[in-house]
Amino acid sequence: MNDIRDDVAAAFEQWTGRAPDGIWSAPGRVNLIGEHTDYNEGFVLPFAIDRRTVVALGMRDDAVIRVASTFADEVAEIPLAELSAEAVSGWAAYPLGVAWALGRHGADLAAVPGVDLFIDSDVPVGAGLSSSAAIESAVAVALDEVWRLGLTRQQLAQVGRLAENEAVGAPTGIMDQSASLLGRADAAVFLDCRTLDTEIVALGLADAGLAIAVIDTGVTHAHATGGYRERRASCEAGAAALGVASLRDLGVDDLDRARTELDDITYRRVKHIVTENQRVLDTVATLQADGPTAIGELLDASHRSMRDDFEISVPELDLAVETALQAGALGARMTGGGFGGAAIALVPLEAVSMLQVSIDGAFAEHGYGIPDVFLVRPADGAGRDR
Ligand code: ADP
Ligand code: MG
Repeated sequence: MNDIRDDVAAAFEQWTGRAPDGIWSAPGRVNLIGEHTDYNEGFVLPFAIDRRTVVALGMRDDAVIRVASTFADEVAEIPLAELSAEAVSGWAAYPLGVAWALGRHGADLAAVPGVDLFIDSDVPVGAGLSSSAAIESAVAVALDEVWRLGLTRQQLAQVGRLAENEAVGAPTGIMDQSASLLGRADAAVFLDCRTLDTEIVALGLADAGLAIAVIDTGVTHAHATGGYRERRASCEAGAAALGVASLRDLGVDDLDRARTELDDITYRRVKHIVTENQRVLDTVATLQADGPTAIGELLDASHRSMRDDFEISVPELDLAVETALQAGALGARMTGGGFGGAAIALVPLEAVSMLQVSIDGAFAEHGYGIPDVFLVRPADGAGRDR
């Protein structure tokens, strides 16, 4: 099998006429549990996956940064001193945005040397696996090293988020970059989105004979962006009405009061966030006490909460979850922002082929497009490969 790093090195050499000075990579991620909790300063439990974005880097004699990718024909280039959030656009806003954001975190863009970056990836784009965090994190670790910045992984996650928020213009939280930068093989990253404290939590999937399957429905809904904004607004309204800075400050004991003080829709939005935070904590505790075979019901409860209370699921995701459970999954839930995208299922290895067959059958029966089903393995976070 051809290693993607060989391809990237060869492509870099063909592009620039010289060998790269190094190769770095960073993974995509799957969120095991903790949905829409990030912007409520709550808890999330993602893990880095065995799909990576790879960056070949070569130093230049001048102060120009150039980026090329297998994803696009055009090369983007700009003098480092001219970088700004507005000066970058398109796919190049991700890597160039990271270079700009490093400037905001202490890099002297008037003094650091120019670089050429060639980027390739096997993280599917737009499938909810955060190819965006993968490209940001790969570029961030590469530039941090060659520019000798010495930033921590937590700081590099902030750099990636700043690039995505300001240079790309997407209002995302810190979860994706944290998973991509801090992930460990066979483990998840427990992240407190208020304090940004992280803890590595062993998953032990292989030992338990389990796998995580991604069921990518391929469905994208036009109202996904509007729906996301509306849910954020409901959460803010709920927190304000209940007199707390964010929903993170509420526990399940506060839900009785919330029910009497809020309108029904706002109450159910709040209920999802509050119970989801508790489910993340319960998942961490359960993993540590009883291992991964015991977390299935928590995944199922998370899905029901998103379907019935937060109302961000769609029929295709509900069908994926129900079918996975019937095919022998221990637990399943939609993952990501909702209104389409992917579900994940915790499956015994011996049930994986049954799962695939059942999903194909059920989706065909409903006249839906056949989802892409594949396994993801919890993998190490960003780093230097060569
Ligand atoms: P995802 O859910 O995959 O993160 P996003 O819309 O957030 O979806 O980010 C996808 C975008 O990131 C792509 O449209 C592209 O602009 C950029 N991107 C991701 N990976 C690469 C890559 N390897 N090369 C160039 N651009 C990439
Ligand atoms: Mg993204």
